[in-house]
Amino acid sequence: MNEIMKIRNLSKIYGKKEVRTTVLNNLSLDIEEGDFIAVMGPSGAGKSTLLNLLSTIDKPTQGSIILDGQELTAIRNEKLAKLRKEHIGFIFQDYNLLDNMPLMDNIALPLSLSNEKAKNIQQRVQEMAGLFHLEGHLKKYPHQLSGGQKQRGAAARALIRNPRIVFADEPTGALDSKSSRELLCSLKEINEERNATILMVTHSAQAASHASRVLFIKDGEVFHQIYKGHHTRQELYQKISDTLTMLTTGGERHA
Ligand code: ADP
Repeated sequence: MNEIMKIRNLSKIYGKKEVRTTVLNNLSLDIEEGDFIAVMGPSGAGKSTLLNLLSTIDKPTQGSIILDGQELTAIRNEKLAKLRKEHIGFIFQDYNLLDNMPLMDNIALPLSLSNEKAKNIQQRVQEMAGLFHLEGHLKKYPHQLSGGQKQRGAAARALIRNPRIVFADEPTGALDSKSSRELLCSLKEINEERNATILMVTHSAQAASHASRVLFIKDGEVFHQIYKGHHTRQELYQKISDTLTMLTTGGERHA
């Protein structure tokens, strides 16, 4: 497998002196092409901070983040914005679709902004709509869609340019269980069939059980990891639940 991201000794410290808070503490991690990683851990553990650093929205205090051989922490401003636009996809909890555009234009946006040919855009939108089961909804505006349809649209938009990696921050946080399952099954399909690489922060053991690898963060460090391997989704769910119980009741670290 190809390594996409290599993260070494990542630290994030907020504030100075007496208000100094160490949020990430020397965290190291390798992300392989085709990984579907769920990041879990107690509130305040540093999950969103990690996601913001890896997706270049924020800068670490210390450490290295290498994407396809490029040190991201050394890249500045416009070059970083270009890299983010071309190689990184985002899915947010609250969809972030533009209200004044039909779904098809929302999904197409990353390609329209990069001056792709209209015919290619149309073809890609149809393909993504198929993958995320949105064929009958493309002409609707966001207010005419359910939460689940909006989030599948946001996922289609995140993946339309074939980014190297997609970051999802609590993507099922605002969805009911059926819509969550539909979104996660589509993400899993695109992960397995197209080798898309996904890193998703979630507090839901159900959501995490769709991933191929579950990472638990505690006190700014990787506390434990579970690989799906040959486990069924139900078995993985059970392992995740057990680990969460251990995390909340205090337990020994065995990363
Ligand atoms: P999680 O996503 O796991 O709930 P976060 O990454 O959001 O955790 O936050 C981790 C810790 O960092 C929390 O204690 C939070 O208060 C602190 N934190 C986050 N952002 C800032 C900031 N801009 N300034 C100071 N502290 C912050």
